[in-house]
Amino acid sequence: MRGFFIGRFQPYHTGHHEVLEEILKEVDELIIGIGSAQESHSIENPFTAGERILMISRALDEINTDKKIYIIPLEDIYRNSLWVSHVRSMVPPFDVVYSNNPLVTRLFGEGGFAVRRTELRNRRVYQGTEIRRRILEEKDWEELVPEVVMKTIIEVGGIQRLKDISGSDV
Ligand code: NAP
Repeated sequence: MRGFFIGRFQPYHTGHHEVLEEILKEVDELIIGIGSAQESHSIENPFTAGERILMISRALDEINTDKKIYIIPLEDIYRNSLWVSHVRSMVPPFDVVYSNNPLVTRLFGEGGFAVRRTELRNRRVYQGTEIRRRILEEKDWEELVPEVVMKTIIEVGGIQRLKDISGSDV
């Protein structure tokens, strides 16, 4: 069975990582879709698709699995009714969708797919918005992402980028 797990991963954090480890127990192969791939350099979406690929593939190197995992960037199309077809045209065939996003689960359900809800634990802190806020405010954020992701964010100049695009030097 091949699963499909979609998120924006701005950035990829420990909550996503724990969910991914759980999903890998259930599937033979996994496709990770990087949503809103066209977005970058904004407060909501600071990282490029390529940088998000780097974060996820490095984090995956630390998971002990020999299962095949595909990481595929997916640009948004502004027509929800056609989105499932768009996704299907861009990724290998899959049997089950993992998401907690009501729109995503609705669209794939209408498309006839089995959908499994994912639970993110410790949601108060394992949350993209919270991590981006902490980076901007120079508060502790490093422990909320896998270490390799922390290094990647620093390596690509992510901290200064967020400050620059927010117009803040605080
Ligand atoms: P999202 O809108 O980025 O995330 C929605 C919320 O769900 C965020 O708070 C996110 O937290 C949280 N979340 C992410 N993964 C989760 C998980 N496994 N379990 C529980 N909560 C989770 O949407 P998304 O679901 O991460 O990604 C969906 C992608 O599909 C987006 O890029 C969206 O644009 C795309 N999409 C496109 C179309 C279209 O083009 N027409 C239609 C539908 C969806 P974090 O911020 O912590 O990740």
